[in-house]
Amino acid sequence: MAHQHPRAPDMLSVEEAREKILALVPVLEAQETPLLDALGLTLAQDAVAAFDIPPWDNSAMDGYALLHRDIQRVSPEQPVTLKVIGHLAAGQTPRQPVVSGAAIRIMTGAPIPPGADTVVPFEETDELARKASGRSLDHIAILSQTSKGANVRPRGEDAARGSLVLPRATVLRPSELGVLASLGYATVKVIRRPVVAILSTGDELQSPGQPPMAGKIYDSNSYSIAGLVKRYGGVPRLLDIARDNLPSMNAMLAQGLAADMLITSAGVSKGDYDMVKDVLAEHGEIAFWSVRMRPAKPLAFGVLRGNGGRPVPHLGLPGNPVSAMVAFEELGRPALLKMMGRTQLDKPTVEAVLEDAIVNHDGRRVYARAFVTKRGATYYARTTGPQGSNLLTSMARANGLAICPEDVPQLGPGERVQVRMLDWDEEGVY
Ligand code: AMP
Ligand code: MG
Repeated sequence: MAHQHPRAPDMLSVEEAREKILALVPVLEAQETPLLDALGLTLAQDAVAAFDIPPWDNSAMDGYALLHRDIQRVSPEQPVTLKVIGHLAAGQTPRQPVVSGAAIRIMTGAPIPPGADTVVPFEETDELARKASGRSLDHIAILSQTSKGANVRPRGEDAARGSLVLPRATVLRPSELGVLASLGYATVKVIRRPVVAILSTGDELQSPGQPPMAGKIYDSNSYSIAGLVKRYGGVPRLLDIARDNLPSMNAMLAQGLAADMLITSAGVSKGDYDMVKDVLAEHGEIAFWSVRMRPAKPLAFGVLRGNGGRPVPHLGLPGNPVSAMVAFEELGRPALLKMMGRTQLDKPTVEAVLEDAIVNHDGRRVYARAFVTKRGATYYARTTGPQGSNLLTSMARANGLAICPEDVPQLGPGERVQVRMLDWDEEGVY
């Protein structure tokens, strides 16, 4: 592709901005956490099996536990009848061994009694016929062959005592919570959730819940960004809106220093940021960047001195609602995930066939809001209409961000496009 646009040398690529941010973001410490609260968090310990799972050989079927050598010659014409010497339900422990000529009626999950080596399911016996004809169940006829060891689930098959079942750094999904529960854990050591202070700034803002005031707009960034923080595992703390004056900014910012991370929006575009710069300079270091992306070119990042001298990363998002969300997805989310001990920081990308056009008129990486559908084996992406960075409803209609690279001036209908998927399980992507 032709390099149509000269690249401003002071602009950072998205990757450069991301590297600079990640280099300054710490991984948080581990915390003993109730198992269910650990969903989505990163394991900060090895989980080793203290015992075998299952703890004993047990039955995979409802049937009869017996000695295989007693049924070696069985056929439908030549059934073998055994004496039923006991019953074993799940949760019971065997009290007597099975000897030649005998069987124990056993339920799924119950321990295999000593002596027995095979379980014959009910279906291969005359149990139903006996019940139907009112005959007693103190004997049972085995009607067909079953191989030795059949329907016996061996001790330690799922996890052997002493084995490493889940290594440190595993991200806990519901299946891992189940595995940890099976190992007997009620609490587990995980990297704790980052508390993220969220601060909207601007004289024009008012919070939802108040009657609309002349000249004001409702603060949407606090909610979209807090929603993203929460979705990805952080704990959002909404601060009151800061006004465009030093005392107000200072007061609000001070509240943010109690958090693990501070995310502000607005006040980072040219002409605007002098005040923010002054305020932040009192609390730490801040850099103002131009990132080669659209939307969300202006960005601030710094590290503040938090309470007790802790480093508190500060991400200053642009004010426009779509810019704020896109910058968070591309640059804030990786930082949040790193704090949570994650190493896989990227959202999934799919290759789709573009159904309309994306225009790139100044050599930035364009993230076009798009809706992806799958028809047959192919993904298709259609942009959600006008792409102004103030048009938040265009974000609400999207399930992905279709990317037009820096050096591509235009992508047209039918061309392949990479789409960063924001949602996989919304209607549209099946
Ligand atoms: P600024 O970065 O202050 O120049 O803001 C850019 C645009 O984003 C302006 O139209 C602001 O009104 C708008 N904006 C800033 N903060 C918010 C917010 N929290 N919610 C909604 N719109 C905002
Ligand atoms: Mg403003």
